[in-house]
Amino acid sequence: MILSLPLNFIIMGPGGFLLLIITAGLGMYAHYRISSAYNKYSKIKTKSGITGREAAGYILKKAGIYDVEVVSVNGHLSDFYDPINKQLALSQENFSGNSLAAVGVAAHETGHAIQHKVGYKALQMRMTLIPITNISSKVLPFVIMTGFILGKMGGIFIDIGIICYAILTFFHLVTLPVEFDASRRARIELMDLGIIDNMESVGVVKTLNAAGFTYVASFVSSLLNLIYLIMLRRD
Ligand SMILES: [Zn+2]
Repeated sequence: MILSLPLNFIIMGPGGFLLLIITAGLGMYAHYRISSAYNKYSKIKTKSGITGREAAGYILKKAGIYDVEVVSVNGHLSDFYDPINKQLALSQENFSGNSLAAVGVAAHETGHAIQHKVGYKALQMRMTLIPITNISSKVLPFVIMTGFILGKMGGIFIDIGIICYAILTFFHLVTLPVEFDASRRARIELMDLGIIDNMESVGVVKTLNAAGFTYVASFVSSLLNLIYLIMLRRD
């Protein structure tokens, strides 16, 4: 949010302020969940001793994927799969680490590479939505702020805001099956390849579920904002 809290209260009213508190609280809770799960399971080593990079390599090979490069990137939990450049980027600690969290995250990102290879529909839809979603999230703060400042005269800006939030909400909705499917694949592949055993899979699943919750939080926040704007427009 580019507005400070008191300014939000003045411009958006109590409803908007409450919404801000709820979405901020949800975001903080999601952050707390992933931080504590990652903190815990990044300290527990896999019995196999296999690193995130090795796990990704084994899973890619098993899936018959030979054109995806596994690279290490800076940052904490900055891991991602880039379908355009066919790169599987792992943060340093997951790339070279051999913890339950490291192999879990690495396998999850590899899950996206597998989705890409098999033409998983939700991933394809998500990729198609990325450009329009980027535009929406860029223009959103400006149209919303202008709409609130102009009041009734700024109705058109609120309308544009609603369209932007509808696009964002749909994007976050499509992201959910993509993320949960990647985590499901991660667990299966890690078990199949003997990288983790049954007991270790509990830690992996807990880490991935906590990560998955951040996507649920994003979806709920976006949906609440959308509902709020629609209600505001009807007033
Ligand atoms: Zn993911």
